[in-house]
Amino acid sequence: MINQKCKVCGIENGSVAALHRHIKKEHGFSPKDYYPLFYERRDLFDNELIEFRDIKQYFVTDFNCKGNLLEWIKSGSPEVLNYTLEILKKRAEEKKTNLIPSHVELKSLFAPNLSDYLNLFGGESNFSSRLSDSGLKMKLGVQKPELKLGELKISVDTREQEPLPFEDCSVNKLIVGDYAPSDDFFCNLFIERKSINDLAGTLTKGLERFEKEIQRAESLGAYLVVVTEFPFIDALEYSPKNSFSQRIGGAFLFNKIRSLMTNYNNIQFVFSRNRDRSMSIIESVFRMGEAAKVVDLEYLKDNGHL
Ligand SMILES: [Zn+2]
Repeated sequence: MINQKCKVCGIENGSVAALHRHIKKEHGFSPKDYYPLFYERRDLFDNELIEFRDIKQYFVTDFNCKGNLLEWIKSGSPEVLNYTLEILKKRAEEKKTNLIPSHVELKSLFAPNLSDYLNLFGGESNFSSRLSDSGLKMKLGVQKPELKLGELKISVDTREQEPLPFEDCSVNKLIVGDYAPSDDFFCNLFIERKSINDLAGTLTKGLERFEKEIQRAESLGAYLVVVTEFPFIDALEYSPKNSFSQRIGGAFLFNKIRSLMTNYNNIQFVFSRNRDRSMSIIESVFRMGEAAKVVDLEYLKDNGHL
């Protein structure tokens, strides 16, 4: 990929670092001048030069922004299909898994989201069959489960500070999470409600504790849905003004969310706009019962099915 031979005068260098010293000293070039000049790379969508930040980024970047990737895939050409499948294959290899990321994970990555993939490949069954050709499969389903009718009673954990005003609910000590359906609807499905600041705290200084909670839930056969009361896009761009650490931005939070979803099969995350929306999401999830554990809830929500 990167030749250590100087492109200006042809001299051989022992390492990339030596090459960089050489081009600076002999030709007055920084890497930022040198690579775009001798290894031109262009955005596949608008043909603009790829911006150089560092060598690693420069040689793997095909688009200057995710918007350009999303515009480029619209043609749906065979090249597009191969390129987008390759994104999933590379990631699966890197993470040593045969499962592709869920909708919420894809939305936070430099990749098309699950809806884009399903559109590109002509629906779930065609997409799944293309995935299986590469030994991959979808982590969660995308068909809306049937909602169980009847009177839904909800248990709220004793520690929930600002309980959502469900009509039929009682306060109980839950083994995990903040909300669970009771009686006929009980199926070891629990919901943890979080504000964006709770989420940021949980995924930073509270991460170890949270992982223990997920592991405990796992050992009890419990499934956890984290409903964050904050729109996805705002969470992705989250940048707390009074952050205890400048590192805690949206990118950091989603990095943690993805690693939790890769490491544990009993958790997923849904982003809700506000408390009213959280209530309707929680009710629907509880009415799905067992099925909620195997469908992509963020996908259903984005497609008007939740
Ligand atoms: Zn030279």
